[in-house]
Amino acid sequence: KRVINFTAGPSTIPMPVLQRIQEEFLDFQGIGASIIEISHRTPQFEALLAENVALITELLELPPNYKVLFAAGGGVLQMAMAPMNLIALKPARKALFVDTGIFTGRAIQEAAKYGTSVVVASGKESGFTRIPEVDTDSLDEDASYLHIATNNTVHATMWKEFPKLNGLPLVGDSTSEILSRKIDVAPFGMIFAGFQKNLGTVGLSLVVVREELLGHAVKETPRWMDCQVVAETDSMPSATNAFALCVCNLVLKWLKEQGGVAALE
Ligand SMILES: *Cc1c(COP(=O)(O)O)cnc(C)c1O
Repeated sequence: KRVINFTAGPSTIPMPVLQRIQEEFLDFQGIGASIIEISHRTPQFEALLAENVALITELLELPPNYKVLFAAGGGVLQMAMAPMNLIALKPARKALFVDTGIFTGRAIQEAAKYGTSVVVASGKESGFTRIPEVDTDSLDEDASYLHIATNNTVHATMWKEFPKLNGLPLVGDSTSEILSRKIDVAPFGMIFAGFQKNLGTVGLSLVVVREELLGHAVKETPRWMDCQVVAETDSMPSATNAFALCVCNLVLKWLKEQGGVAALE
């Protein structure tokens, strides 16, 4: 009686994952309690988190200078977390955007709360039916980063090749495609993805960030949204969403069993 659900998110979870959640829910790994009933400081919980970091590192083939964080909230909250952490990399506090639809539109609004948002190319005239050309030679040198949505969920466009930038970090919103195709992370200073589409269930986001960019958060940044604090506390500035991390763990293991990102692609 399973229905086939083609929505981008919250979306279908592999059946073996749902079954494992059901089997383990009352008794997680033989501890006699559910994962949502135990402290986030227990060895079982810390092992789960560490395994998630290792699986993400392996599946995304991350170079060693990237941190894997499990941040609060979904993709839309990351549209604020990115500028809070990165817009002050340069004193001009400018974030550049390629506007490719609804989700970059939201990100443009969020970043403008912490500095200046500049749209360097827009697909608006085409009704967001194509990714616009970006003149990478004329980008503002005062800018802190360039934000793109690598896959534009509502408009069904995606970047095939990412803009080649001369040292300017790229920030990628990959909420609706993370781990579905091989990407070279090197040009990215940060990639984020809300859990609810490809990583399990709603409540947290994956943030992959280049280590050298940490430590520049604007002073108003809450503890849970400062990437450096999240990194230093191994994604536990305080208690976190055990259930989402548990579902994510099973999804990542399932994905690896299928042959990883190349096989899924
Ligand atoms: C779905 C989606 C979001 C929103 O994510 P939430 O986790 O619901 O906040 C953001 N960006 C993109 C590209 C999306 O597809």
